[in-house]
Amino acid sequence: MSGLSLGVEAFSKAYFSRLEKVLEQMDFLGCDALVLSLGADLPWLIGYQAMPLERLTALVVRKHEQPVLVVAALEEPRVARHGDLFRVRSWQEYEDPYEIVANAIDGCDMVGISDRTWAVSLLNLQSKSGATFFPASQVTKSLRSVKDPVEQAMLKEASCRTDRVAQAIVDGVVKFVGRSEREISMEISERLLAEGLEKVNFSIVGSGPHSASPHHEPGKRVVGPSEAVVCDFGGEFRLDGSAGYCSDITRTVVTGEMPGRFVELYSILKTAQKRQVESVRAGATFESVDSVGRSYLEEFGYDQYFIHRTGHGIGIEEHEEPYVVDGNTDLIASGNAFSIEPGIYIPNLYGARIEDIVIATETGCELLNNVDRSLCQVE
Ligand code: ZN
Ligand code: ZN
Ligand code: ZN
Repeated sequence: MSGLSLGVEAFSKAYFSRLEKVLEQMDFLGCDALVLSLGADLPWLIGYQAMPLERLTALVVRKHEQPVLVVAALEEPRVARHGDLFRVRSWQEYEDPYEIVANAIDGCDMVGISDRTWAVSLLNLQSKSGATFFPASQVTKSLRSVKDPVEQAMLKEASCRTDRVAQAIVDGVVKFVGRSEREISMEISERLLAEGLEKVNFSIVGSGPHSASPHHEPGKRVVGPSEAVVCDFGGEFRLDGSAGYCSDITRTVVTGEMPGRFVELYSILKTAQKRQVESVRAGATFESVDSVGRSYLEEFGYDQYFIHRTGHGIGIEEHEEPYVVDGNTDLIASGNAFSIEPGIYIPNLYGARIEDIVIATETGCELLNNVDRSLCQVE
């Protein structure tokens, strides 16, 4: 079922090399310390995800010092160690964790703090430390957006398992007509879990006029014959020693004969998406990938109905840097993982989207999703 064999050692090794790169980047940017709390920076660096609760969890990274994970004593048993990657300073309920972190960054001027840290955590730290805080993403963004081999393997496994659910949809195994969007969405979620995903992040089913709403919340609407149905879903694949990695795919199916206009719209969209995938390579700008699709749609007057960016980065977070959007002049790097998901949405009538995850290479990209993109008729 799966050809993936990644042990805890593989993750440990990856964390040490990520830490090395983080320290180099800190040096380069004049960052004296990093305080990593909520969000994906922390699990990316040491495999541990802070619980999103009021008790402070923070990893303090400084030059020439072993990183220290400040964590509530009751959460310490959750922490998996990786050799001497970091040490743990657990705190008791009567202690002030902000005091501990403030001491750990004593003497630091510029401190990067996780973008997703609670505002109250930052305010508490600011009241106890004279440091200037800035978003840690300035240090981690360019590093996290290039997926190392271990991360690529995790993303591929997540996509491969998700593809099997998409395959069941386009093959007609999942039934649509006469069922509510909500029921179908739940079946997709169950199938994702049955494929071994740790959790489901979202399972959008938009039928008929709802297919024209890109982020439709699946509801009570019962799918009828001859309708377009947009299915966009993804979850998280996890192994011991690692954070979860996300998948994200969209396929649009039809429940019978559709008007010629829709069939034509879909084939235009399919070509646009294919051209976008083919335009990916290291050294091209992200906005160029967006514009390849948009200008193709423009030839048919459909660009005005493509109402969102082309795609988003994916990794530990389902949406992360880099974004494939007009105005992003950053250059694609080999190892960037992101979605290509153009859509055409005719308000109150119908819509379609096709989404795949790709990993950029020097000469092109590797497609992580490989389920048929032709307009499949289901029941
Ligand atoms: Zn989305
Ligand atoms: Zn999606
Ligand atoms: Zn997406």
